[in-house]
Amino acid sequence: MHTVTAGIIDHVRRQDPEQHEFHQAVTEFMTSVDKIVDDIPDIVFDKVLERLVEPERVVMFRVPWMDDDGTLQINRGYRVQMNSAIGPYKGGLRFHPSVNLSIMKFLAFEQVFKNSLTGLSMGGGKGGCDFDPKGKSDHEVMRFCQSYMTELSRHIGEDTDVPAGDIGVGGREIGYMFGQYKRLNNKFVGVLTGKGPAWGGSFIRPEATGYGLVYLAGAILEGAGMGFEGRTCLVSGSGNVAQYTVEKLNQLGAKVVTLSDSSGVLHDPAGIDDKKLAWVKALKNVRRGRISEYAKQFPGCTYLPHNGAETSNPLWSVPADYAFPCATQNEINELDAKHLLENKIKLVAEGANMPTSAAALDLFRDAGVLFAPAKAANAGGVAVSGLEMAQNSSRLQWTPKEVDAYLLKIMKNIYANISTAAETYSRKGDFVDGANIAGFLKVADAMVAQGYV
Ligand code: NDP
Repeated sequence: MHTVTAGIIDHVRRQDPEQHEFHQAVTEFMTSVDKIVDDIPDIVFDKVLERLVEPERVVMFRVPWMDDDGTLQINRGYRVQMNSAIGPYKGGLRFHPSVNLSIMKFLAFEQVFKNSLTGLSMGGGKGGCDFDPKGKSDHEVMRFCQSYMTELSRHIGEDTDVPAGDIGVGGREIGYMFGQYKRLNNKFVGVLTGKGPAWGGSFIRPEATGYGLVYLAGAILEGAGMGFEGRTCLVSGSGNVAQYTVEKLNQLGAKVVTLSDSSGVLHDPAGIDDKKLAWVKALKNVRRGRISEYAKQFPGCTYLPHNGAETSNPLWSVPADYAFPCATQNEINELDAKHLLENKIKLVAEGANMPTSAAALDLFRDAGVLFAPAKAANAGGVAVSGLEMAQNSSRLQWTPKEVDAYLLKIMKNIYANISTAAETYSRKGDFVDGANIAGFLKVADAMVAQGYV
């Protein structure tokens, strides 16, 4: 490796030894941009890469809230404002017990390049809290969201930092946080995206990440002379991204045979058709139930609970043509990748952020599997968030058809850009290098132009 990129990887590991997810994200990125360091002298001279791995600002704060029993609970909140070279910070909020500074920093770091790939003016950020919405009443979630926003509101704004949803943050949580921001600031502005369509939200935002994932995967498949019709697909997770991935795959004639949640894995060999998907949406979004209930509702399926001691995830052992990990980071490990390859998987498209471990990614790349990295593949969500910001600024609301057409165009552009960057700087079809390099070049250009900030 180049001494500069190798030195940065070494630096982040030594500086924050416990931040494994952040190291993983930085290492993958540096391995890609390594190929262009010597082509652009400013990158080295202006220490662009060194500046990129240091967040512009990190806010970490106490979130006190009262549960239904009248007991005071304390959580830890975060917002990482990673890079604002090409626009206001933009990126989701994650509410999950696993949230820590390493996960926040890896997500914020990847967001910088993902947002750049959309072609819209958005910097990168990410936030969240180690709060677990599962099993909490609506009133508890409301009190928590109000407390979280009371502190966060000092650091965000429609031209400064515009958060959205992520794991554990959907329409309900965005509503409570928007209400509290408006109350504190006496301003109705587009400070959050993912709002309801009646109060400033964009149509197609809930669908955008899943639909965009399938649009990007479709462009890659088309480039390889393949398609979706009659193909069997694996989808993990059962939340926002998973649900709309299944919906779009069904529309395009594919058959999805798996879903999961943090408790276990569901396999439905007959396929999760639109009727079953509608049931899943009600289960997950309204009743907030567990995916195990699906197996009781629809005979002929198998449900395997996680026992916490597995070395591999049984979902990735199900034979299929294409895989769409849509749950969480590092959900495909080396053994899972081996199982997928044994079953001759043809495409892996990342709906979740960094769902593929470094060792698994190496196996996929060596095997020449079509691989759509998260930075490109799940950029549809933030792209439509960017369109929501544009609609809010102009006080207009576009139709679902208009927004969907924009989304499709953006995903096709991303495919064109990452393919060109792969061919120019790395090798044809290496979309990991393509996404990292194409996303980076625009940010680097802006950072050099704006001086040492
Ligand atoms: P949701 O909270 O709607 O759904 C998350 C799903 O993943 C749930 O089924 C959840 O199960 C499961 N899950 C979460 N953590 C784990 C875990 N540790 N092990 C196994 N399963 C787990 O989140 P989203 O669908 O919004 O997000 C999914 C992924 O997509 C994340 O990586 C997120 O960063 C990424 N993403 C989301 C975007 C968006 O627009 N929402 C945009 C771009 C990326 P359970 O219900 O049991 O918790």
